[in-house]
Amino acid sequence: MTPVYMTSTYVQEAPAQHKGFDYSRTTNPTRTALEGNLAALEGGTYGLAFSSGMGAINTVLNLLQSGDHVVAGNDLYGGTYRILKTLYEKLGVTSTFVDTTNVAHIEAAIRPTTKLLMFETPTNPLLRLTDLEAASAVARKRGILTVCDNTFATPALQNPLALGCDLVVHSTTKYLGGHSDVVGGALIVNNTELYQKLKHFQNAVGATPGPMDCFLVLRGTKTLHLRMERHVTNAQRIAEYLAGHRSVDRVFYPGLTSHPQHALAKRQMRGAGGMVSFELKGGVEEGKRFASKTRLFALAESLGGVESLIDHPVSMTHGSIPREERMKAGLNDGLLRLSVGVEDVNDLIADLEQAFAAIR
Ligand SMILES: *Cc1c(COP(=O)(O)O)cnc(C)c1O
Repeated sequence: MTPVYMTSTYVQEAPAQHKGFDYSRTTNPTRTALEGNLAALEGGTYGLAFSSGMGAINTVLNLLQSGDHVVAGNDLYGGTYRILKTLYEKLGVTSTFVDTTNVAHIEAAIRPTTKLLMFETPTNPLLRLTDLEAASAVARKRGILTVCDNTFATPALQNPLALGCDLVVHSTTKYLGGHSDVVGGALIVNNTELYQKLKHFQNAVGATPGPMDCFLVLRGTKTLHLRMERHVTNAQRIAEYLAGHRSVDRVFYPGLTSHPQHALAKRQMRGAGGMVSFELKGGVEEGKRFASKTRLFALAESLGGVESLIDHPVSMTHGSIPREERMKAGLNDGLLRLSVGVEDVNDLIADLEQAFAAIR
């Protein structure tokens, strides 16, 4: 097994030789192993590991300077939206948030100063997809870098670099770690010049993970393909169960034929993922009550661990979005998000069934 190098500094043979490892913010052997592992999983050339997903995203944004413009998805992880709005806007980097499921909207938002196109697919919590090939082609034509946050799909189900993206972002906190025991992030890239810039920022800023965190993510990736297989089959069964339930208005899952982008999911993914969202009949109160009645689905933020979680986005993960704005985006009051774990699916369905009964 990869040793956990609990080492901050390394004895040098002579001054200024720059041979091997010298200081662990710059490189650490456990981290180097993880970075190679993540690059290989994404079919990329270079990997960079960070102390959180946001640390990875911030490093991408370090590529920008005042006057630059970002076209971003309008259904982004809250922290990504927040760093763009509250930090980078202040530094003169502006962003336009668009529905990237329609490539025409991306094209319309591009300005001469646009440097980055950034989105997630599938999105959180509405599981909308962006056509990776079409979106990155539009950006490439104009010399814009395409950044895909691949946290929800994981490299087991989707490889954005192969479809034309320049950079892949991960919150390894989620499926890559897989056991809700570590916070981490990663970037994967093919272009050497781009890698060197990002590597420079990684060392300059210092949001690097400790060796134990790297070890945990490395251990997680060993079973990623097995876990994802089970997440996907469980999620599909649960989505189908919910779609047939009389207390449910709508189910969001790319594996359902009723999903507006089901065909795209089949084309660019090897499985529709482990996240399922659904709209409960009723409003905020019903949503909150349901979320507190499940027993196997633990009420918690985050996702991607082996244990199932339930989230009421409107009062939890997406609570900071003003109601009007979130209704416009399709985030309704009764929406619930499930991170479907790897438990016995019949137990999970029975848990949902008793929660429906308990709120009736
Ligand atoms: C959690 C998450 C992030 C942020 O990652 P942290 O590890 O929490 O910093 C970014 N993008 C997506 C899609 C996420 O789910």
